[in-house]
Amino acid sequence: MSWKVPPSHVVIFGRPGSGKSSLAEQLGADHGFQLIRTGELLRNAIRRGDSLGVRAEQLIKGGNLVPDSLISELLEQTLKAPGTDRLLFDGFPRTMGQVPILAKFEHALNFRIDCYLEIAVSHQAAVKRMTGRRVCPVCGSTYHLVNQPPRVPERCDRDGAALEQRPDDTADVIEVRQQIYNKHGLPILDYYRNHAPDQFRSVNGEQSYDAVYAETCRVLGLDASDSEPG
Ligand code: AMP
Repeated sequence: MSWKVPPSHVVIFGRPGSGKSSLAEQLGADHGFQLIRTGELLRNAIRRGDSLGVRAEQLIKGGNLVPDSLISELLEQTLKAPGTDRLLFDGFPRTMGQVPILAKFEHALNFRIDCYLEIAVSHQAAVKRMTGRRVCPVCGSTYHLVNQPPRVPERCDRDGAALEQRPDDTADVIEVRQQIYNKHGLPILDYYRNHAPDQFRSVNGEQSYDAVYAETCRVLGLDASDSEPG
C-alpha cells in the first residue's frame, strides 16, 4: 500500500551494521527530517561528562544496552520541543520496554509514527560491514572503508577530522551487539509488523548503498534525487 502523503514521523530499524544510520543521515539532509538518534545522544552525553553519560559509558563500551529508564530520561531532555514536524527515530525503540515509552511521547507531544521501516540485512552481512565502519568524532558523520569511503582516506568530508573506529565496533563487541539485536530488536519488528501492519515496511538492505537509499525513498514516497526545499 502506498501513502497519500509521505510519512513525516518514521522509526528506522535494522541490526547494527545494516546501514540504517547513514540512510537516516541522508534522509535528514535531503528531506528535512530531524534525527532523534539515541546512540548519538548518549555518546554526546558521555563526551560532556554529565551524569547520564557517566551512567551509560561502561554499558555502551561493552556493547550492552542502557536501561529503558535512562533512555526515557534522555528523550525527555531532547523531545521537549521537537521543533520540526518531521522526526526520524534511529536506534529507538530498542527493547520491548521502550515501545510504551515511544507511545507515551507520541501522546504527550501529539505526533503519530506513520512508518516503521526495517532495513533488512543478515547477521553475516552486518558483521562484515561493521568492521569497515568509521565515524567523525567532530560531526558524527559515518563512513565505510569499502561501501562509502570518504573523499580523502580516513578524513571527514565535512570538516577534515581524522576518522575513528567506534570503541563498540571491535570484533567481540560486534558479536555482543548482534546477539542483543536478535534478542531485543527482532521481537520489536514482529510487534509492529503485527500491530501496525499498514505502517510497517521492509527494505532489502543487502544492496549497494545507493540502491538501498533509492528503495527507501521509493517505499517512503519520497524522491531519491530531491533535496530539502531552501
Ligand atoms: P547506536 O549508535 O544506535 O548503535 O548505539 C550505540 C550504543 O548506545 C548501543 O550499543 C547501546 O549501548 C546504546 N543505545 C543506543 N540507543 C539505545 C536504546 N534505545 N536503548 C538502550 N541502549 C541504547
